[in-house]
Amino acid sequence: VELIENEIMERQLNVTWDDIAGLDFAKKTIQEIIIWPMLRPDIFTGLRAPPRGVLFFGPPGTGKTLLGKAISAQTNSTFMSISASTLTSKWVGEGEKMVRTMFAVAAIHQPTVIFIDEIDSLLCSRNENDMESSRRIKTEFLVQLDGANTFAGENAKILIIGATNRPDDLDEAVKRRLIKRLYIPLPNKAGRRQFIHRLIEHETQSNNPHHIDLSDKDVDFLVELTKGYSGADLKSLSAEAAMIPLRQIDDIQNVSIDNIRPLNIEDFQIALNNVKA
Ligand code: ATP
Repeated sequence: VELIENEIMERQLNVTWDDIAGLDFAKKTIQEIIIWPMLRPDIFTGLRAPPRGVLFFGPPGTGKTLLGKAISAQTNSTFMSISASTLTSKWVGEGEKMVRTMFAVAAIHQPTVIFIDEIDSLLCSRNENDMESSRRIKTEFLVQLDGANTFAGENAKILIIGATNRPDDLDEAVKRRLIKRLYIPLPNKAGRRQFIHRLIEHETQSNNPHHIDLSDKDVDFLVELTKGYSGADLKSLSAEAAMIPLRQIDDIQNVSIDNIRPLNIEDFQIALNNVKA
């Protein structure tokens, strides 16, 4: 229990919908199938009953975990995040017990969002010896999933979110239980533009003297050049660009913060050579 509370449980997340660039369709769907039922459980019964589990699938680094955190923050729920490959590798032989305990801890701290990354690896084991233990973990997981209540239920409210980059590898039994599936794509132009605008806004707000100096034309240019970049790639790209003004300073230890120049489009262009999608 302690291990779970310390390692995989997070309270008081402050991720808002605004922190997530693009993904309007996913946000709207989540609003309807998760947030509304929680606010009005009386309306969301029968045909409108919310799903117990949701699957987010799509390329890496596109904001699946971030969406899980935003759901958790929006619903004031505890967030538990674990990767399925950790379950099958880190706690060899203990995975089954971990799953059971995790759901028990989730019930104590309900409402709880359980986010399971790489859910495809619940059944794929690397070697034959792991096969049996993986199977037991999966069976336990399915049992717990079937027993869990939805966010609109009367008892312990638990929402399971599975995430995967390889939906085709997902076991049928798991897939059947995560009936609501949402594709989380790479950001399109509008999404990338939103990401860059938020970044500029954020850096300016955070009392950061070395803010970002990009004109509208620069932003348009950057949006074009970052086709195929995920949110995570855009973040790495920006972090790389942010290093460039520093590399031009001779004595970093004594430089006054006011003498560090703002980031400009040339910095991003240089960074684009190093950080690829
Ligand atoms: P993986 O499939 O590799 O687990 P993921 O889809 O869960 O990735 P996240 O972990 O949510 O991706 O994203 C990684 C980081 O990239 C986030 O912390 C965030 O900074 C940034 N990011 C990704 N997508 C977005 C987005 N749509 N808006 C804002 N930031 C994003």
